[in-house]
Amino acid sequence: MAFFSDDENKIEGILQVNQSWQNYSDKEDKQIDYSNLDINPRWSFRRTIVRNAFFRISVVRIYENRCAFCGLKVIKNGNQNIVDGAHIKPFSQFYDSRIHNGISLCKNHHWAFDMGWFSVDNQYKIIISNDLEEVSPHAKPMKDFHGEKLLLPKTEQLFPEMEALEWHRQNIFKA
Ligand SMILES: [Zn+2]
Repeated sequence: MAFFSDDENKIEGILQVNQSWQNYSDKEDKQIDYSNLDINPRWSFRRTIVRNAFFRISVVRIYENRCAFCGLKVIKNGNQNIVDGAHIKPFSQFYDSRIHNGISLCKNHHWAFDMGWFSVDNQYKIIISNDLEEVSPHAKPMKDFHGEKLLLPKTEQLFPEMEALEWHRQNIFKA
């Protein structure tokens, strides 16, 4: 596996935490006493918040703070970031906050992705809806990204999952 040595420890750490989190929550789910419904929703709500925060931080870091669509990177004071860790399969439907269901996108392209204005094919190439009316005098228009390769993490094991992208193409993308 072709790790870049600078990132190796960071990425290993992320993977380990992600993995142990998965194990922990599986175990926790089995231990939950479903007879006490007053307590359990709060537990799972708190766990969801923490897990989603971890997801966002990890995904953005893996993509080095850049939008996978357009490459934009803007950070202010080290903690305000123009890119988001976006869920490929919506969290509200799948509750899947594994990093493989994530992609780093700027605010514009996060929204456009969620709306199905663009998607990604099985070679990680961008496909754009053909009915966008677009004026973009100072930046490359979205439709000109059609056929370009998505900006991907350096390590293949962190690439977004094919199955998730396929789901997005079939259920969200509006050609
Ligand atoms: Zn972007």
